[in-house]
Amino acid sequence: MKILFASPEIVPFAKTGGLADVSGALPKALEKLGEDVTAIMPKYQAINDKKFGIEYTGKNIQVPISNRIEEAKIYKSQIPNPKSQIPVYFIDKKEYYDRPYLYGTTQGDYPDNAERFIFFDRAILETCKILGLRPDIIHCNDWQTGMIPVYLKTLYKDDQFFKDISTLFTVHNLGYQGLFWHLDMHLTNLGWDIFNPDGIEFYGKMNILKGGLVYSDIITTVSKTYSEEIQTKEYGCGLDGVLHKRKDDLYGVLNGIDYEEWNPATDKYITAKYLKENLSGKWECKKDLLNIYGLKPSKELPVLSVISRLADQKGFDLIGEIIDELMELDIQFVLLGTGEKKYHKLFEEIGKKYPSKAGIKIGFDNALAHKIEAGADMFLMPSRYEPCGLNQLYSLKYGTIPIVRATGGLNDTVENYNPLTKSGNGFKFAEYSSTKLFSAIKTAVDFYKDKLQWNRLMMNAMGEDFSWSHSAREYVELYRKAINKRTKT
Ligand code: ADP
Repeated sequence: MKILFASPEIVPFAKTGGLADVSGALPKALEKLGEDVTAIMPKYQAINDKKFGIEYTGKNIQVPISNRIEEAKIYKSQIPNPKSQIPVYFIDKKEYYDRPYLYGTTQGDYPDNAERFIFFDRAILETCKILGLRPDIIHCNDWQTGMIPVYLKTLYKDDQFFKDISTLFTVHNLGYQGLFWHLDMHLTNLGWDIFNPDGIEFYGKMNILKGGLVYSDIITTVSKTYSEEIQTKEYGCGLDGVLHKRKDDLYGVLNGIDYEEWNPATDKYITAKYLKENLSGKWECKKDLLNIYGLKPSKELPVLSVISRLADQKGFDLIGEIIDELMELDIQFVLLGTGEKKYHKLFEEIGKKYPSKAGIKIGFDNALAHKIEAGADMFLMPSRYEPCGLNQLYSLKYGTIPIVRATGGLNDTVENYNPLTKSGNGFKFAEYSSTKLFSAIKTAVDFYKDKLQWNRLMMNAMGEDFSWSHSAREYVELYRKAINKRTKT
């Protein structure tokens, strides 16, 4: 099967969150199953051409946008992995992508994001044509690729080149919809006939994610629980009705993780490697981590950690409410994150108030993220909602016990530890409240004192397998379904 994987961010080229990890890893897992995969993304300023051997293909495309035709260049490299040959194409359009950030700054999104990504989607189709790249299926990811299914069923539907190309659209986070005012419709070169409640109109605005949901052949999201949650008012972000209508085509496929990147036995970023069978390196990693944060290492004090985008979704208001009580416990706390200003302020104040117990780093730092996974004892994810969540999966592999709210993928991957049966891999709480979060942390901290129980818990966690092989097979099945559906219509 020929698969084109379209994504606005792909590891290792550019990343703001979990979508990039998935986009770097899933194509490799599909290739291992014998599938023919090509990936495509924008060529952002942050991408290092030399490092990744990115070269100009000599081909340019002409892309209609509004009443203009804009030209873009096509570059090429491959997903860097000695075992992989996956080509990656980059759409080079300086005016749109040669900027310091992918989507905007902490002050807000770039004002021309509609144009940047409507262009990207149409440029992908034009790239297929000019390269003679005719996939059986285009796997689209998040709102930035939402216009691809729309175009295939409208502007490009009578073009023989695109006949029978199916689409699978994955929602990685329903909270980001690509919502723009209706007057941006001219950018799409589509008529007002699709601007209605059955099309891409959403309460008077243009909703690009909705375009993906309505026009794709199959929809997936990144965990079973989230696929059910988003059909409810509470989690549906206004699109629950649309999703419910398409429930027969909506599937939850849990993200895997790339154990070549996230594995304490081989991790190139950590100071000492370790295995389930020999944990001595973890103590070295803990000392290294606390040294970086200027805290004093102790075998008696568990280190609670956070690595995250600092956004409302992640539940940090709950931590804010109980921070003083938390700091009275025998613990240390480290955080790495960047995002909304109010959370920068909240955590910086915590760092100042508790200098010997809390270490705060505001920023994005992949190497430090690895060191935290390895050096901490517990990982906090009290998310308000969490489509899949990757950090709890990394944490499990590193024996860093997750404490999570039972929502979305967190609910599907973390099981409460039961001291009687000795089963379970972490701690979770259901109600979105700081009292419940506190009590889950307290339970974990109490268990930490019992070294036998804690060791058992770590063994359970490190023994989990969330590799991509299973989920990649599920995707292949769904690609087949999408193709069958398309050829029948
Ligand atoms: P989301 O995609 O909602 O941000 P996920 O848990 O699915 O959340 O994935 C987040 C990914 O981004 C993980 O790989 C995590 O390690 C990484 N990450 C998030 N914030 C930072 C940061 N400040 N520095 C380094 N890595 C980060």
